[in-house]
Amino acid sequence: MTLTIDSLAGSLSGYLASDQVNSVRRAYFYAEQAHDGQFRRSGEPYVTHPLAVANILSEMHMDHQSLMAAMLHDVIEDTGVSKSAVKSQFGETVADMVDGVSKLNKITFSSHAEAQAENFQKMALAMARDLRVILVKLADRLHNMRTLDVLSPEKRRRIAKETLDIYSPIAARLGMNAVRVEFEELGFEALFPMRARRINAAVKAIRGNRKEIVKQVQSAIEACLEREGLPGRTIGREKHLYSIYEKMRTKRKSFSEIMDVYAFRIVVDSVDTCYRVLGAVHNLFKPVPGRFKDYIAIPKANGYQSLHTTLFGMHGVPIEIQIRTEEMEAMANNGIAAHWLYKSSDDTPSNAHIRARQWVNGLLEMQQNAGNSLEFIENVKIDLFPDEIYVFTPKGRIMELPAGSTAVDFAYAVHTDVGNSCVACRISRRLAPLSEPLESGQTVEIITTPGAQPNPAWLSFVVTGKARSNIRHYLKNQRESESIALGRRLLNKSLAGHGTQLEKLNAEQVQELLQQLNVSELNTLLSDIGLGNRMAHIVAQKMFPEETREIPKATSKDAKQASLAIRGSEGMVMSYAKCCYPIPGDPIVGHISSGRGMVIHTETCNNIAEIRQNPEKVVSVRWDPDVEGEFAVEIRVELENERGIIAKLATAITSKEANIERISTVERDARFSIVNLLLNVRNRIHLARVMKHVRLIKPVTRVARVKSRKLAKPIKGNIAPEALKRQH
Ligand code: MN
Repeated sequence: MTLTIDSLAGSLSGYLASDQVNSVRRAYFYAEQAHDGQFRRSGEPYVTHPLAVANILSEMHMDHQSLMAAMLHDVIEDTGVSKSAVKSQFGETVADMVDGVSKLNKITFSSHAEAQAENFQKMALAMARDLRVILVKLADRLHNMRTLDVLSPEKRRRIAKETLDIYSPIAARLGMNAVRVEFEELGFEALFPMRARRINAAVKAIRGNRKEIVKQVQSAIEACLEREGLPGRTIGREKHLYSIYEKMRTKRKSFSEIMDVYAFRIVVDSVDTCYRVLGAVHNLFKPVPGRFKDYIAIPKANGYQSLHTTLFGMHGVPIEIQIRTEEMEAMANNGIAAHWLYKSSDDTPSNAHIRARQWVNGLLEMQQNAGNSLEFIENVKIDLFPDEIYVFTPKGRIMELPAGSTAVDFAYAVHTDVGNSCVACRISRRLAPLSEPLESGQTVEIITTPGAQPNPAWLSFVVTGKARSNIRHYLKNQRESESIALGRRLLNKSLAGHGTQLEKLNAEQVQELLQQLNVSELNTLLSDIGLGNRMAHIVAQKMFPEETREIPKATSKDAKQASLAIRGSEGMVMSYAKCCYPIPGDPIVGHISSGRGMVIHTETCNNIAEIRQNPEKVVSVRWDPDVEGEFAVEIRVELENERGIIAKLATAITSKEANIERISTVERDARFSIVNLLLNVRNRIHLARVMKHVRLIKPVTRVARVKSRKLAKPIKGNIAPEALKRQH
């Protein structure tokens, strides 16, 4: 009998409400129209395929939305219909599912590495937020496998291999045994037609011999159950070809060894009966020691439950027995799909996810009741609601990363050098910020530059330990070399007061100095000076003890020559005070702070006044004419309250190319507010332009720069966060 929408609707009305059956019908007619003029390889109209896919799902008693998605699953990909069109016709949930199936179709399993297969399975699961997408995809694949004959041998083999590598393990993970077995049978036949034929012939040849034994054992079991008053049905099982092949291949057993085993399944009404049947068959035939497995108390990872035992039957033939309830039987065949039949008809998109969760929770409960290790359920949870994401390298390799990972994590996962020199990234061919969290299925391309170096700001968004430790390590080394450079500059400045320079000293003089100071290497000394652990002028003094101690007081006249020029690119041993936020154009002073290098203040900063009492800690500095970068500065805006005023303020500031780093409302009454903003600007001229622009906003009554703020602990604060503020 050929399948039609009417015959499908007929069987659907057996378990779905009539309005649900109608919406499935509607989806069918929509698909028929959309695929009009398209045909399958076999010559049939294309719509027969989605209809068959829906039919497979109906046999699992899947809900109406899954069936609708099945009807429409190729519409977005193969016809001109857009996702939004599907959404307006059939609602968001169905549209999302159709879109999900299309996305799965787009990732092709290109790599031949076996290790990739498992990641690929996980990725498929991770990508489908609604697990029903996977079920539709499995049904789609199942129908394609059933109609493989019409394809070329090469294409047939490729699809068969992909099915065995990817889709049958997914079906197994989800406990859908019936689908898995069919995938394996069809896949085996298409991939290894000769081997399949040989095994099939061998099975047929010995079936005659086995028949008599099967009959004897079966009636012995049935009689035994009858005698004991235990209701149940006994089914003789034959192994499927692929599992025979796999057993021969992996367990290195001969064909006759495998086929000498006789297998039966006893399906009963309750869990209690399961154990009583077990007792009965153990009385009937002697059990093989060590072969009993209680998967009722300890279900398998995919929720499979059953009792397994092996017996010595008559004439010593081994008999494998599975005992389970009808419910467990349904679960073993359909797995997660067995849990998808529900009565509610609400269409909210989150419900599917909630139900999938319930499925997992159901397993969890089962496990807790059994009082066993939860380890197995953790595996299921990880697979279905992953904490991992799977992304592609441009060459198609799959990388596994923790959820929330960014392109920087990806770069370090590829190679430390790639991470250290990365400057930008493309996510699925689009330029994206390095801080953007990645999603499963994306292709990530890292753009590197030879001279680039890690940005301390990355530490605020990377999630992998590898990225974090590598950035820290790099910055530590970087800080070391920067402190040596600063130390050299400071020491030379002090030596200039004695009319010399470090480069002019000979090796003996340097060696003598190091010995005097009890330092092993010149770099250690310079780094100590740069970090503020040693005073440069005291070191210089040691070299020229005969000269009177004199701290050169910088007069305005010679300040220009004596002062250090700040270029804005000094890095981590130089930072900018958070009390006065100096920017280029401000008169500035450097403060050597023990262990933290040099902190730059404005000359008018309240905090520097205190420090000036300790003159050897103060270094005269000035901005280099070529200073570059952006500098934090704080402004205070007084304004009348008005709807959307903060947004207006922000727009005015960013339109003048100044970044807003922090915004806080300081005071507020019914009419007026004071807003404090931390901005990044290039210099005083830039700041003036920004402030002028802000002043033009109507409700703004006053704009002023915050000159010097009393910090709770003046001049404390450490280098790393200061460095974080810098925008390079
Ligand atoms: Mn399809």
